[in-house]
Amino acid sequence: MIYLDNAATTYPKPQSVLRAVSQNMQGANPGRGGHSLAIRAAENVYKCRVKAAKLLGVKNAGNVIFTSGCTMSINMVIKGLLKKGDHVVVSDMEHNAVMRPLEAMSQYGIKYTVASVCENDEETISNFRDALNEHTRLVICTQISNVWGIRLPVERITAMCHEYNIPVMVDAAQSAGIVNINMMNSKFDYLCVPAHKGLYGVMGSGLLVVRDPKNLQPIIHGGTGSDSLLLTQPEYLPDKFESGTPNYIGITALSAGIDFINSIGEEKIHRHEIELLSMLYDNLSRNKKIKLYTPRPNEKSGGVLSFNVKDKTSEETAAYLNSRGIAVRAGLHCSPLAHKHFGTENIGAVRIAPSYFTTYSDIYTLSRVLSAGSAR
Ligand code: PMP
Repeated sequence: MIYLDNAATTYPKPQSVLRAVSQNMQGANPGRGGHSLAIRAAENVYKCRVKAAKLLGVKNAGNVIFTSGCTMSINMVIKGLLKKGDHVVVSDMEHNAVMRPLEAMSQYGIKYTVASVCENDEETISNFRDALNEHTRLVICTQISNVWGIRLPVERITAMCHEYNIPVMVDAAQSAGIVNINMMNSKFDYLCVPAHKGLYGVMGSGLLVVRDPKNLQPIIHGGTGSDSLLLTQPEYLPDKFESGTPNYIGITALSAGIDFINSIGEEKIHRHEIELLSMLYDNLSRNKKIKLYTPRPNEKSGGVLSFNVKDKTSEETAAYLNSRGIAVRAGLHCSPLAHKHFGTENIGAVRIAPSYFTTYSDIYTLSRVLSAGSAR
């Protein structure tokens, strides 16, 4: 099988990640005991927190919170921050991990405005600025579209929002691991990261980076292994947002995933993916039956390219590719706004998402199978 669905989760995982999973399948509960096994587990959790902080340019490792995934991280911000009457601005590239919690919050009187993403960054920033109002309490922006690979100017949007003292949450689901993120320079207020995509960890794990925890309330309360006489949630980090036994397997796998990224370098991983997608783009643009929507991938793009075969739904194309041993994702990718942006909400699109493990030969095979299939 040629796997090109790495935007959903990376596959295969590095051997070191698989080893970490099998070695840590059994272990004591980190931070929940004074015996050596629990202490060792707590040390491993701390080591991963420090590695993640270093990777993401976070000054204090305690500001890195372990979560069950990017969706959980996003929910923690939306539900832990917003109050009745608040207004939110989002881009028209957001995933349902953002849109559905926001819609759910409408029952509490929370409203939102969608700002359109344009090819020209100045226009995008101006659309965000125009969408702000006196009740805006949060701006949410994905760093890379999970459908179109478009990179949004999140650093500049953050700087603009900070002029009005409005915090910004960045969804780094498709950027962490291929884009250098530095929380100290970019000053994002909240960063939501899945561990199982570009960080090569396992599914069901993620991170939330919180720059200032003051206004954010926890949405889950419970045991932290600390201050147990207190019946209220500790106010300090990370305990404020980490209740219950953590996903130790996921955390140790993430630790190995970060080591893997550091051993290669985000820039090299990104370059590899862009070279593969540019080669694919050139092959597809020679095929008159293929419809492309975005410009040729370049150093500004993410590792995702979507297209359609004319007169076919995306599902038909994906089913054909699957029958030839190629795994891709069709449909709407949980991002209806991003599809409406390019008018593909009725047919979806075929998404190609390579990883560091994808080869030129994989992309050559895909191009060949597509030209044979579209000629039928
Ligand atoms: N945001 C974006 C842009 C995504 O692509 C995804 C995953 N498809 C998510 C959020 C949700 O991530 P997770 O499945 O890890 O919760």
